[in-house]
Amino acid sequence: MKHKPSLTIVGAGLAGALLAALLARRGWQVDVFERRGDPRVHGFAGGRSINLALAERGLHALRAARADAAVLDHAVMMRGRMVHFDDGTTQLQRYGRDDSEVIWSVSRGELNMVLLDAAEAAGARLHFDRRLHAVDFDANSARFADDRDGVLHEHAFNALLGADGAGSALRASMGERTVLGERTVSLGHGYKELEIPPAADGGFRIEPNALHIWPRGGYMCIALPNDERTFTVTLFLPSQGDPGFDTVRDGADAVRLFERDFADALPMIPRLAEDFDANPTGVLATLYLDRWHLGGQAVLLGDAAHAMVPFHGQGMNCAFEDCVSLATHLEGAEDLESAFAAFEAERRPNALAIQQMALENYIEMRDRVDDADYLLQRALERQLAERHPGRFIPRYAMVTFHRMPYATAFARGQVQRELLVEATRGRYSLDGLDLEWLDAEVLRRLEPVAAHAPAGP
Ligand SMILES: Cc1cc2nc3c(=O)[nH]c(=O)nc-3n(C[C@H](O)[C@H](O)[C@H](O)COP(=O)(O)OP(=O)(O)OC[C@H]3O[C@@H](n4cnc5c(N)ncnc54)[C@H](O)[C@@H]3O)c2cc1C
Repeated sequence: MKHKPSLTIVGAGLAGALLAALLARRGWQVDVFERRGDPRVHGFAGGRSINLALAERGLHALRAARADAAVLDHAVMMRGRMVHFDDGTTQLQRYGRDDSEVIWSVSRGELNMVLLDAAEAAGARLHFDRRLHAVDFDANSARFADDRDGVLHEHAFNALLGADGAGSALRASMGERTVLGERTVSLGHGYKELEIPPAADGGFRIEPNALHIWPRGGYMCIALPNDERTFTVTLFLPSQGDPGFDTVRDGADAVRLFERDFADALPMIPRLAEDFDANPTGVLATLYLDRWHLGGQAVLLGDAAHAMVPFHGQGMNCAFEDCVSLATHLEGAEDLESAFAAFEAERRPNALAIQQMALENYIEMRDRVDDADYLLQRALERQLAERHPGRFIPRYAMVTFHRMPYATAFARGQVQRELLVEATRGRYSLDGLDLEWLDAEVLRRLEPVAAHAPAGP
């Protein structure tokens, strides 16, 4: 775009702050409005350590904002899943081939603060305690409320970029103006965050360089390490059932559940009952929209456009990819409307693909990681990946360590899965497998992947 109109971002969470940094670095004038106060002044809301898994897609976007080093400084490397079986034994299942293929546990609060600093340093203007209240698309004017005193502030805009999360107020305003085709599909499961504090000597209580999983069929617990030697534990349960959040109602119920199903974790969570009572129960849902933009006046990205269940650890990574893509389309397009349309056309099919893979991964994590047929398929997958590097790449790796479009990873993953199921059907081991036939099938069914094919233009 030759002339760069000033842009207004709604939400200074993970995507909003990164997008502001990327755009301001490219010379756009950017105003960002955030409902909450400045976390760098007030501390992060809630005060609890909540962490996220950062993977290659997210890291790539952070590199573009020159924020990767500051983020990785406080990150903890996770090499694989540490599965905690019912009988108390554990097994590390590596994610990648070596330490070049790992994911990183990062603190949501710290990450947000690093990105706010990056946005401000690049020249973006940040306005805190400004909650989007209403939009007048005829007058190109938005109203933001300061919830501390209830005062409303008018702001004239050229275009609104909606990074205001799953409950987006901008989306609601756009929906009053046009049909967005909004559908929210609840997973029927919720979550509760708990904590494993450091050991008496100040160190980690369990292996720090892993994402811990206690799979239990219809439900599970996970734990991600924090820089300060704690782990954030997340208990995922159905909303209804035994166990479910309707039967596990309070801290005492939760202790009984852990005694029965997560006995090895229980002694490591001394504040289990208190935290269960004090922390909110999160809900999990997938948000689908047919349209992400309103002409050249407004566009949605991140959770506001495509909230997903967290089981692939990709919601933020995908939101960060959105930021790079939107910044690139804004730069290249003739006008705002064509930039938003091109962004939506590129990203929407990919969001749909990762939303689906995230749903599938819940079943894999809670129910499959300890199954014999699953483990056999994984073993064969590793063999084929070694025999056909650059062609047969496990789906988890395509999503996590590569930047090919999510839709490509999804499609290739389906072909690979069919092959694995066919080859291992009725088998208990890989002995005697017809590898010649398998090699020929891999070559026939899968084209080579271009090394680190970028996700965006
Ligand atoms: C339990 C759980 C675990 C997860 N784990 C991972 C993981 O490991 N890896 C991963 O990649 N993703 C993970 N995610 C997903 C990730 O948290 C989201 O995808 C990511 O936060 C989306 O970023 P966002 O900026 O779009 O939205 P948000 O981070 O929700 O930010 C929205 C911002 O907008 C502000 N806002 C809201 N309404 C208004 C308004 N009306 N006016 C102004 N500002 C407003 C909010 O205060 C907030 O700052 C997880 C999610 C959950 C629930």
